[in-house]
Amino acid sequence: MLGLSSPWWVSDVELDETSGLVEVHVECDASTGLCCPQCGRLAPRYDKRRRQWRHLDTCQFQTKVVADVPRVRCPEHGCLTIQVPWAEGNSLYTALFEAFVIRWLKDASIQAVSRQLKLSWTAIDGIMRHAVKRGLETRTHWMCAFCPWMRPRSARAMKPYLKAMSPLLGVKGYLGR
Ligand SMILES: [Zn+2]
Repeated sequence: MLGLSSPWWVSDVELDETSGLVEVHVECDASTGLCCPQCGRLAPRYDKRRRQWRHLDTCQFQTKVVADVPRVRCPEHGCLTIQVPWAEGNSLYTALFEAFVIRWLKDASIQAVSRQLKLSWTAIDGIMRHAVKRGLETRTHWMCAFCPWMRPRSARAMKPYLKAMSPLLGVKGYLGR
C-alpha cells in the first residue's frame, strides 16, 4: 500500500466505520541506525514526534498514515525529524496522494477536485507548489540541455526561465505565483 521497506513497517490498521476512516500505523525499527536529514551522517536518536498524512482512500474510506517519527540529535545540526519515505518535507499528504491530486487536476477544475476530495483550496495550492518544486528540481538538467546558454545555479534562479517556458512544461502557467 505504501511500498514500505526496512526500517519502516505497518504495525496496525484501524477501521472506524462510523467516521469512515482508516488509520494505518507505521513504525520505525528501534534498532536501526538513523541519519541526520541535513548532512546524512549517522546520529543518535533523540525522541519521536507523532505525524499523520492523508493517503489514498481505501475502499472509499478516507485513509491516513500515522507514525511516531524519530528525531535525531546531530552534533552539527541539532535535533531534527528524519525524513519519511512516503512523504516529502512537512507535507500533510503522502507522495502517492499528492501525485493522485496532480493527475486529477489535469482533467478537472480546482473546485471539482476540492469538492470530491474534501480538500481546501489552500491544501491543493500546497500540493501544486510541491509538484512545481519537484519539477524544478528534476528538470534542471533537461532545461540546461535545452538551453545550453542558461546556467542557473539553483531552483530559485530557474524560476524566471521556467515561467516563460511553462506551456512547454505542461504546468499551465502556475509558476508565476
Ligand atoms: Zn547533521
